[in-house]
Formats: sequence, C-alpha cells, structure tokens
Amino acid sequence: MAKRLLIKGGAVISVDPSIGELRVGDVLIEGDTIIDVARDIPAEDCEFLDATGMVVMPGLVDSHRHFWQTGTRADSIDHVFWDLVASQWPKIAAHYSPEDVYATVLAGAADALSAGVTTVLDWCHVVNTPEHAEENVRALRDIGIRSRFLYGASMSRKLNEFQGEADDTDSWAHARDLYTREFEGKEDGLLTYGLAIQGPDVSTMELTTTDCAAARDIGVPIAVHVGAPEGPPPMLSIQRMADANLLGPDINFAHCCNSTDEELRRLAEAGGTATACPTLDMAFGMGTPATGRLRDAGLRPAVGVDSVIASSGDMFEELRLGMLYERMRRSQAIFAKGTDVKSVAELGFTSREALESGTINSAHAMWLGDKVGSLTPGKKADVILLRATDLNLAPLSDMVGAVVCGANSGNVDTVLVNGKIVKRNGSLVGVDVARVHRLIVEARDRMYAYDAYPGMRPPLSTPTHLS
Ligand SMILES: [Zn+2]
Repeated sequence: MAKRLLIKGGAVISVDPSIGELRVGDVLIEGDTIIDVARDIPAEDCEFLDATGMVVMPGLVDSHRHFWQTGTRADSIDHVFWDLVASQWPKIAAHYSPEDVYATVLAGAADALSAGVTTVLDWCHVVNTPEHAEENVRALRDIGIRSRFLYGASMSRKLNEFQGEADDTDSWAHARDLYTREFEGKEDGLLTYGLAIQGPDVSTMELTTTDCAAARDIGVPIAVHVGAPEGPPPMLSIQRMADANLLGPDINFAHCCNSTDEELRRLAEAGGTATACPTLDMAFGMGTPATGRLRDAGLRPAVGVDSVIASSGDMFEELRLGMLYERMRRSQAIFAKGTDVKSVAELGFTSREALESGTINSAHAMWLGDKVGSLTPGKKADVILLRATDLNLAPLSDMVGAVVCGANSGNVDTVLVNGKIVKRNGSLVGVDVARVHRLIVEARDRMYAYDAYPGMRPPLSTPTHLS
C-alpha cells in the first residue's frame, strides 16, 4: 500500500459541493491521491499532519501564466500593452537565451508554488529556438509544479506579425517532436501539453486554421489570446473561428475583454473555456475583466495571473479582483439608471464563485478538472494549508469569505503537490532557493545588458545590489 498521510483537524474548504465546508475536518491521502475528506477520519498506519488553526483547501489553479516573463518582474507596471510590442518584445524577449528561459521559469514556478499555486497553464511564447522550449519544460520538471506546458511562437516571429509580415511556415515540427519524447502517454504525470497559437487577433485565419489542425493532429488542446486590447472595435476572433468551425471543447481563450456576449455564447455552446486575467487586463489598459460576462454567457469563469511584469503573482488577488470588478460593473449599470444597489443579488458575483474561478473552474479551463481543483476523493492530492491564526484571517467565521476577502500568499504555510510536501512551515522543501535566486538575478542582468529600450524602465545602475 502506498504511503498514507492524514491532514487532521483543519478548517476544510473542499470546493466540492457534495462535501462543502467542514469547520473541523480531515483529508486522507494515499500516495498521490485524495481518498477521503470527512469530519473525523479514523486512520492507522499513516503519517499525520496537524492542521489545527489552518484552512485546508485545494491548491490554487492559474489557467493563464507566462513564467518566462518573471525575469522582468514589475517592469511593466507603468506600461500599456503597446509598450510591450514596441519595446519589451524586440529589446528583451527576442534576445532571451535558453539559459534565461530556464532561470526565469524556475523562479516563476518556485514563486507560484510558494504562493499556494499548485497547477499552472504555462504559456511559453518565447520559443526563439527549440532549446527555449526544452529548457522551459526542464525547469517545470525540476521544480515539481503541476503544469500544462503550452508550446507557443517565438517573440521575433510575433513581432514580425504585428508589423504585418505574417509568417505561415509550419513552426510545429519541434512541438510534435517534444510532445512525442516528453509527454505522449504520460498524461497522468505532473506535466501535460498543448499548443499556444497566435489566433486571428494577431495573425491570419489561414494560419489559425493550420495551427488548430496541427494541435488536433498531435492530439493536444489549444489556447489563444483574444479580445485585448479592448479599445479597437471588437475583432470578433471567436466569431470568425466559430464561423470556420474551429471551436471545440479543446480550446481556451485568454482575456476576452472585447469579445462580444454573442461570441462567448457560441464558445460556451461549443464546450470551450475562457480565462480572465483581472490584474493584467486592468493594469495594461487592455480592457475590462470578463469574469461576469463569461458566467452570464454560460462559461465557467476562470482566472489567471498572466504575468508578473505588471502583477504580484498572488492568485488570491485575482480571485478578489475578478469578483470586485464584476460587482463594480453591475453597480455602475444600476447607478446609470438613476437608482441604487438594493440587494446583494444585484451585485451578481459571490465569494464562492470567486473561489471557484481560481480552483475548479481554472482546472476545467485547462482540461484538468477531473484531476485537481477540489478536495474530492479520487483526485490528485494538491492541497494547501493557510494559517488561519494570522491576524489578517482571524477570527475565522465565514471560511470561504475569509479566504476570498482577506487571504494572501503570505498566509500559505504548507503546500502539497501530488501528495508530496513541497512547502512546510512557510518554507519551500526540496528547492534550493539560493540557487533559484542566483539564476534569476544573473538572467536579469543579462537582459538589462541590452540596455536599449526607450519607454521602458532604465536598467538598474547596479543591479547586483539586490542579489
Ligand atoms: Zn497572456
């Protein structure tokens, strides 16, 4: 029998409607799998993990992140999307080396794990050479996070397309090879696969059709950026893909800020999924988070950090912001009618829906809903423990409300991925944090050595003073 671990005496938020919340409850794990969640589980022959004073909940699931951008953390907080096109892509991303990708993904994934994010859809669109993708996958494997790795385009190619030079060459030959070598037949492991295609917003319908066909030929799902920036008239990319019969349950769209309600309904009908990125949507002037509109269209609103170039990476913030933005949108519509908000029902987005957006809905959005996203017997044992005794969470009354309203990544005490403890007593286990830090600082210094990006922050004059 595989090793058993009993997480005992915590305040359990299962995110499974058939189990609900347990003010004092236990979670029993055998090997990599949850086998029971109940009020008091009598168990022998098992290790115990005392969860007294803790909230026990499923690991957070981020269904849209670019780990490779960790190297320029926070540098775009005063940028808009077009600054990236004009500056970061050609001046930094196009110069990324495979070594930079390894260092930045390693640091980004370590940061996510420490923040209680156990599953991430990691979208790599800096595949300037095949080695860039290989190093991204190696870093994910080394850190031990659950991830769906998305093989994307190169930044230099993306830049060409923004400048009107569409490149229709088949860029998926190496993607096929990598899938066959590293992923095929291993779908039960921590790493799964997909293609991140450019889509109609930034390329042609011909290329979109070819790219979708390539993913379906390989047998992996597809993700597409759409509907951001919101400013121009709707680009109707989802509609165009629907008209071309390209939608299906194997497609996820990120952002969707200017996707119309009709497009979202067609996506829901096709069984597809969508992810809002509340912080990035607002920080970049990209648009308005679509959380509520996704739900109203029949989709399950999922959320993601997108990138730490302009966000904290704290998924608790994304839960909150996705909810708060929708409440503001609805309130503004009511104010515009000359009246006031009279009932909470009019706000239209509850704390429970917010919690689901960053757990079970995000798991569903990245095709892992049967494996993670809730504490359900039979699912993989991705579990986090928050210190409910911390002053920003105490006293614990409404458990879901407390997490959505007040929790932050600093409350994350313990993290398990696949039944394995990767963080305990507030510190990562089995991760050489000093090495991760050294590698990311070295990568940052290489990036800033290019030193030629007007409109972006100046390079640090003495960057190593932070190391
Ligand atoms: Zn993105």
